[in-house]
Amino acid sequence: MRNPVGGHVPVAGGLAKVGLPYAREMGAEAVQVFVANPRGWATPVGNPAEDERFRAECAAASVPAYVHAPYLINFGSHTEATVERSVESLRHSLRRAREIGALGVVVHTGSATGGRPRERALAQVRTHLRPLLDELTHDDDPFLLLESTAGQGASLCSRTWDFGPYFEALDSHPRLGVCLDTCHIHAAGHDLSGPEGMRQTLDLLVDTVGADRLKLIHANDSKEAAGAHKDRHANIGAGHIGEEPFRELFSHPATAGVPLIIETPGGKDGHAADVARLKGLRDRD
Ligand SMILES: [Zn+2]
Repeated sequence: MRNPVGGHVPVAGGLAKVGLPYAREMGAEAVQVFVANPRGWATPVGNPAEDERFRAECAAASVPAYVHAPYLINFGSHTEATVERSVESLRHSLRRAREIGALGVVVHTGSATGGRPRERALAQVRTHLRPLLDELTHDDDPFLLLESTAGQGASLCSRTWDFGPYFEALDSHPRLGVCLDTCHIHAAGHDLSGPEGMRQTLDLLVDTVGADRLKLIHANDSKEAAGAHKDRHANIGAGHIGEEPFRELFSHPATAGVPLIIETPGGKDGHAADVARLKGLRDRD
């Protein structure tokens, strides 16, 4: 399949028991899950039976799975405790990803807090995040996927070219990839709504990181205009991006084989409608 289309699924109550039926009802061909409270630092152990069932059923249905790491992680923080917790939290997400058979762990690129220069924050990224990549030595270890932000505050990575210095700080490690969030990149200033907007933005991303680094797409429309630097997801076709750019996305060479995950509002019905809408755009031509 050119692009599996799926979504983020809730797993409170059981990774397999709750997550898989939700994914099925959504029509998901790819799934993303949290393996910890996204707004906390806890690093819970998994339930081996649920892990195994999740892994086996995803494999049997050829549904690729991804983990989204907690939001608090920031390797650019000026607070030492935050950086230390970020290491433990991300290491946990990477280990849990392997245990559940996930292909990648999405982590936000963070920001240079405390008014410190971006170079200093990127030096911390090298010191503290780089070693975690070297721990990915098993064949079934996940990719680490960097997700840029809408450009709020002192964000380290919001425009396509910002991935350049970030990749450099991590020596373009072979296990490193990009998760492109269409809402974030639009709000950051790459106007996806106009003709050619999607194509040009994907071209810019390839220019910066190369052709094979885009591993996952967060397909979200944006409640905010291009350049607003605000992160507010909308249902596909109901925001400032609109439906048409997503059709362009499906025809760009850089997205061949790359799964799409929706993170949109509207609960299960809204999610099912967005998945169906994207599949329609994918399959129309
Ligand atoms: Zn996202």
